This record gives sequence, C-alpha cells and structure tokens, in this order.
Amino acid sequence: MAADPAQLLRQRGIQVTAQRLAVLRAVAARPHITADSVAEAVRGEIGAISLQSVYDALGVLVSERIIRRIQPAGSPARYEDRVGDNHHHLICRICGRVVDVECSTGVAPCLTASDGKGYEIDEAEVAYWGRCPECLAGQRTASGTEPFARRRATSSHTRKEHPPK
Ligand SMILES: [Zn+2]
Ligand SMILES: [Zn+2]
Ligand SMILES: [Zn+2]
Repeated sequence: MAADPAQLLRQRGIQVTAQRLAVLRAVAARPHITADSVAEAVRGEIGAISLQSVYDALGVLVSERIIRRIQPAGSPARYEDRVGDNHHHLICRICGRVVDVECSTGVAPCLTASDGKGYEIDEAEVAYWGRCPECLAGQRTASGTEPFARRRATSSHTRKEHPPK
C-alpha cells in the first residue's frame, strides 16, 4: 500500500472521498477482510455508511486494481491490498481463516495447463484447502469461528486470542 492512499486514488483518476479512503484503509489494515467487516471498520472511523456504499467503493478499488477480490467457494468475498503478484491462498475449511501463500513455482500462472487449447494463459487460480494449525490443534472454540486473516501468521502456541471484531 502506498504511503498516501489519497495520492494512490488520484493517480488512478479516482475521485477521493472519505468513504473510499476509509474502505481502502480498512482493507489495508486487515488483509482478506469481508465487506461486512469493512463496513464495521469504516463506521468506526467515519460514521454511518451503507453496505451498498461499501460494495460500491470496493468495486471501484477492485476494478482499478488497487485491491484484489478473492472469492473462496462457500465464503463471502474477501478483499486485500496485496495486488499484482498473483499469490495464492490457504483456506481453513473449519474456521475459514485465509492466509497468503506464494506461487508454487516461479511467477504467474505458475501452473502449466495440460492442454491450453490455444489460450494465452496469464493466471491460474489456486486455493489450498485444509485445516489451519489452530483447528488441527483443536484450540479454536465454536465462538471463535469468525474467519479473519493476519498478514503474518503467528504461532498457534502463542496466539490464543481471537481477532478483534
Ligand atoms: Zn482453522
Ligand atoms: Zn492474499
Ligand atoms: Zn501462482
């Protein structure tokens, strides 16, 4: 994320509004955040905002590739500000936690189709599904199921608190 989000918007020719800035900050602060959580964060920062306005702002930022939208199967869409590197995701089937993982080999698309059918392939969408270390260890309780990701995974032995709501 650029040091100055307002500058980033201007560079892309996007009108700078308090709502867009707040949405961008919320995504930058919590990678793989859901729209609902963005709305919560923005309300805490600038007051009332409709979920529709949040979706509108997210849509603008996604279409300008300032943020990236990921859509794990069976989960609400997630948003992150790590763009342009085609990284992939590890997704926990139990708690829904999403963390970044680098390309399996080199750069995008990082997987070679067995038969490209003449397509010029520039991206392979890869999601690794499984159980996160905390779920494996049985440390997460039923009330701790709200999936939020941390940019840097902390040790499952030291992090017992649930992410802030
Ligand atoms: Zn988990
Ligand atoms: Zn990511
Ligand atoms: Zn890759």
